[in-house]
Amino acid sequence: MSIKRKLMLITVSMMLIPVVLIIILSLLLATVFSVAEPAAELSIISSTATMNPYIVRLVIIWSIIAAAIIIIVGTVIFTYINQTFLKPLENISSALDKIKKGDLSCEFVGSGDEELKRLCASFEELRLQLQKNVQKELIKENDQKILLANIAHDIRTPITSIKGYVEGILDGVADTPEKRDRYLRTIYSKAVTIEQMTENLLIYSKLELGRIEYCRKVIDIIDLISKTADEFSLDFQSSNVELSLLLPSDSVYVIGDDEKLKRVFSNLITNAIKYKSLDASSLEISARLNNSSVIISFSDNGIGISEKELPHIFDGFYRADPSRNSTVKGNGLGLSISKRIINDHKGKIWARSTLGQGTDIMILLPIQSRAEL
Ligand code: ADP
Repeated sequence: MSIKRKLMLITVSMMLIPVVLIIILSLLLATVFSVAEPAAELSIISSTATMNPYIVRLVIIWSIIAAAIIIIVGTVIFTYINQTFLKPLENISSALDKIKKGDLSCEFVGSGDEELKRLCASFEELRLQLQKNVQKELIKENDQKILLANIAHDIRTPITSIKGYVEGILDGVADTPEKRDRYLRTIYSKAVTIEQMTENLLIYSKLELGRIEYCRKVIDIIDLISKTADEFSLDFQSSNVELSLLLPSDSVYVIGDDEKLKRVFSNLITNAIKYKSLDASSLEISARLNNSSVIISFSDNGIGISEKELPHIFDGFYRADPSRNSTVKGNGLGLSISKRIINDHKGKIWARSTLGQGTDIMILLPIQSRAEL
């Protein structure tokens, strides 16, 4: 039953019950009185009689009974209101007090009334949402700590080896020109690693903070893919990876930042080379049109990614198990940067992979029709 109806019923009963009871009692009293002393009854009605003690006693008893009835009815009604409305409201208020103090464990339990049930349900929803947000915040805080530890670790490792090689040169351990040359080349390669890492970090943090600027224009995405792949021809050769391009012969236009998109394609090509299997390796880059978008896929037959790790590869600083323990360079930023860039182009990027068989990274980008150009 709704509170409104309940309140109406209560109000009516609060007025009617005492009135009806008093009328019944008065009638009873009048009947008794007329039977006992008919003359006195008349004098009450005409208000001229001198109040005899018998009548006074009867009226007092009647008044006490009437007052008692009204008090009892009032108490019953108050207890009822208290139990059905005030108690649940008190519970809501004490739960809100706890939430204010940061305790989100207190549940809002609904009473039997529709409105209070709805109110409790809304508060409960709010509490659960707050609880989720707090949990998300905690996870984010934890991620940031891990991120900081990872950055420190990733930068310290090449610095430590640079220090070692410089000490080797200074202490005379590198005592031949060949050795010195080898040491210097290693120092150079470690410095390049740090440079690449800091550059990735810079882009990553700029993307995270939304401070990266996109220079958008109409791009022929097919041309961009083949030019990017072309730049890697030497790397394909030296790493023995066979590249095949399955691209449409016509141009496909998208609005975007060609440098940023090139960075994405380069990341994916680099990964296919880095995570190749020892056997004959291949990378197939294909593109096909799908309604108002183009789907580009980078399919390799490399080491693959396990089912457990696949959902995390687009997270910042995530490196799947085999790459974490291998000598393959990386800091787990490439795919998260790529994802950010593709999302900022209103596109999607996702992966399919089987451990030991290979990986497909797919990109969907909205295209511009000729009429829109
Ligand atoms: P990284 O710098 O480690 O290569 P990425 O963000 O590019 O970082 O990739 C994240 C992780 O995803 C890699 O460490 C690797 O474990 C996995 N991964 C990405 N691409 C491939 C691929 N083509 N084949 C196998 N594993 C891959």
